[in-house]
Amino acid sequence: MSIPHRIRRAMARPGPAPHHPGIRAELGTVGLLTAWVSCGHCHASLRVDAALETVRDEAAFRTRPMRVTDGVRSWLLEWDCPACDIPSHVTLAMVSPSGS
Ligand SMILES: [Zn+2]
Repeated sequence: MSIPHRIRRAMARPGPAPHHPGIRAELGTVGLLTAWVSCGHCHASLRVDAALETVRDEAAFRTRPMRVTDGVRSWLLEWDCPACDIPSHVTLAMVSPSGS
């Protein structure tokens, strides 16, 4: 419900964004509830855990909370990068449990 509203707002206001919207991280290997992502800013290798709602910088052993927003068939994961403090986000498609 809120996404079309946000698109309408974005389209109604052309031009540069008034605030930093955050950087889209690059999605790597995806597990059932975890995924490896590469920070879009500093390219740090991060492990996101959708169950614990944390993001972990494996190189620096730092863990930070992550916000998980349920979509229709995906999760929106948002966090502040543990390595460079830049707000990042990525969309993670839901894996339907079809019997393992
Ligand atoms: Zn980073």
